[in-house]
Amino acid sequence: MTPDWTLPPQTQPSVAVEGSTARFPVRRIFCVGRNYLDHALEMGGNPRTEPPFFFTKPADAVVASGATIPYPPETADFHYEGELVVAIGLGGGSIEVEKAAVHIFGHAAGNDLTRRDLQAAAKAGRRPWDMAKGFDASALVGAIRPGPLDPDAVLRLAVNGAMRQTSALSKMIWSVPEIIAALSRFVTLAPGDLIMTGTPAGVGPLLRGDTCEVAITGLSPARVTVA
Ligand code: MN
Repeated sequence: MTPDWTLPPQTQPSVAVEGSTARFPVRRIFCVGRNYLDHALEMGGNPRTEPPFFFTKPADAVVASGATIPYPPETADFHYEGELVVAIGLGGGSIEVEKAAVHIFGHAAGNDLTRRDLQAAAKAGRRPWDMAKGFDASALVGAIRPGPLDPDAVLRLAVNGAMRQTSALSKMIWSVPEIIAALSRFVTLAPGDLIMTGTPAGVGPLLRGDTCEVAITGLSPARVTVA
């Protein structure tokens, strides 16, 4: 017998836009792995020999700054990763590095929340990272600031006010235009896509009750509390 389904209304995850009542509708969330040399080394890699690689999170994993999220299930090693988030406003495939900037709607501070123990198990078993990276409420994204980013911007992440990550964004192995160029060879980018651009060294655990804030020069901070 067919159940009498009441399908939910269509909803689209979205992110606040600074200085506007408009919201940025999230289409997809792409993430770059190992994009700062110091973090790549702390994770046991040698990124200078490898092109950038990508993984994804579901669009509805997005969480707004100020949210309180549950400690996620199936992990005993829940980690923060402070990151610059790039919001794509103009789509395209095989975008050239020199032309990538026009595809950027704006930037936000973000946190690529990670079940590190599941990621380590996935790496060891040569399995996908989805359950380590793409779980519920795993993509903290602050308000998007439209326009270009300060080229001297610095990322800082604090847990309960104690600094855990500090890096100039210029320390990225692959710059934002290079990331857009590389990613757009694999998929045709579209308005609404978000790209989390990788984290510097200093990743570590979040515990129940912790508050974690990612601040990037010129952008709204992205803050989350673990219930
Ligand atoms: Mn990351």
